[in-house]
Amino acid sequence: GLLPLAGVAGHPVAHSLSPAMMTAWLEASGRPGRYVAFDIAPENFAAAVKALPALGIAGLNITLPHKEAAFALAAEHTEAARAIGAVNLLLASGGTLLGDNTDVDGIRAALDEGAMTRPQGPAVLLGAGGAARAALYVLKTRGWRDVRIVNRSLARARALVEDLGVEAALHPWEKAAEALDGAVLVINATSLGMAGKPPLLLDLSAAATDALVFDMVYVPLETALLRQARETGRRSVDGLSMLIGQARPSFQALFGAPPPQDLPVREILTAMLEART
Ligand code: NDP
Repeated sequence: GLLPLAGVAGHPVAHSLSPAMMTAWLEASGRPGRYVAFDIAPENFAAAVKALPALGIAGLNITLPHKEAAFALAAEHTEAARAIGAVNLLLASGGTLLGDNTDVDGIRAALDEGAMTRPQGPAVLLGAGGAARAALYVLKTRGWRDVRIVNRSLARARALVEDLGVEAALHPWEKAAEALDGAVLVINATSLGMAGKPPLLLDLSAAATDALVFDMVYVPLETALLRQARETGRRSVDGLSMLIGQARPSFQALFGAPPPQDLPVREILTAMLEART
């Protein structure tokens, strides 16, 4: 048969680590297949997605700025994608376009890696964008009850909790210390702290001394927030854990088998990131 084809669609997309990760997994597994990056401008996204079946492309991972557009174009949705209203994996196989959200799997994997598999106290979620939506969905489905959201736009935070049907306390950044009081889990789902973005200024001292700090940002790999966590004896998980954690089920869905377990994909991606700086 034909070579299985898949890819990642974004704009811009040149810096995506997904092609390297997926290709490394394909090569290590000995499976046939190609996974490439598609830079698709927003005005062309719908046409590109409609062409997937005709091109014989199994599906696409979707990154900024297309996750909501992909949701709107999918004919069917997984429960997670429907709850979040965003799609990071479009599957074109089977005659219909299925929208999934494996960012949720990535967040679960990151929390599991930090030994935070179940609620253990208050959780603080920084942010109210798409990534925060996926995080709040995970906290909800894992039974977290005391969730505090810190965001610049409180209206956006309010829309987030209403859409997901959860109860959460909403705080502006000036009240972040209040939100952090006794927190066992702190998640950064804002773009603050990312290279080229403003720094994330947050004093972790009100959080539990053994709190897990999870930063979704992965450029740099150790953000100022994660450095603070390390220097104050708190535990940390970085954005690469989430990125790898969303790619595993994506690979499975696109190529029909789980990625090989033994490939040191974190080390491969870390080396790529270091080579860029
Ligand atoms: P969105 O644009 O949807 O949300 C951005 C968030 O950051 C909002 O909460 C926004 O606040 C906040 N923010 C941005 N700029 C500022 C600022 N100057 N001051 C205060 N708050 C600010 O982005 P996403 O949710 O898609 O992504 C968020 C982060 O998560 C990014 O860094 C992204 O790279 C990362 N991410 C990582 C993944 C991984 O696999 N590791 C996967 C997906 C995302 P407001 O609502 O007030 O505008």
